[in-house]
Amino acid sequence: MCGFSPHFLSRYNKKECYNPDMETYNYIEKLREHRLKATPQRTAIAEALDTYGHLSVEELYELLKRRFHSLSLATIYKNINIMKENEFVAEVKLPEQKSVFELKKEAHSHLQCRSCNRVWDLMLDLDDIIAQASKKSAFAIEEANLVFSGLCDRCKNAQ
Ligand SMILES: [Zn+2]
Ligand SMILES: [Zn+2]
Repeated sequence: MCGFSPHFLSRYNKKECYNPDMETYNYIEKLREHRLKATPQRTAIAEALDTYGHLSVEELYELLKRRFHSLSLATIYKNINIMKENEFVAEVKLPEQKSVFELKKEAHSHLQCRSCNRVWDLMLDLDDIIAQASKKSAFAIEEANLVFSGLCDRCKNAQ
């Protein structure tokens, strides 16, 4: 039994359903390590991001509203913002699209499919590129955001 719409699941192509009753202990511990009170909503956000990888605030809301009846989009925003401030989640800024969020991990880049819009991690070291950019400009570079755009395997083969 799964509470999510077929549309949502097909977009994310999950093999298993997201199970709201799954063990939350690890997320509780991890939230506390980041000085965050482990409320049920925050542990649910952590589970959803762990399961789906990258989600927008609206997608998180769609996923969690069945479980938390009083949930609002504003509550998700509030929680995501504090989880971001405490470096538990990271914002992934996408060109011409709303940001998605992920569990914070080591620095990496992203692949985005221009057909299905899904986002994948690409573990790629940007230090070289940042060093080159610094050399070629008088700019004090603070961060770099690299999103590769193209077609994923599934969309490539569907053409
Ligand atoms: Zn695709
Ligand atoms: Zn990522």
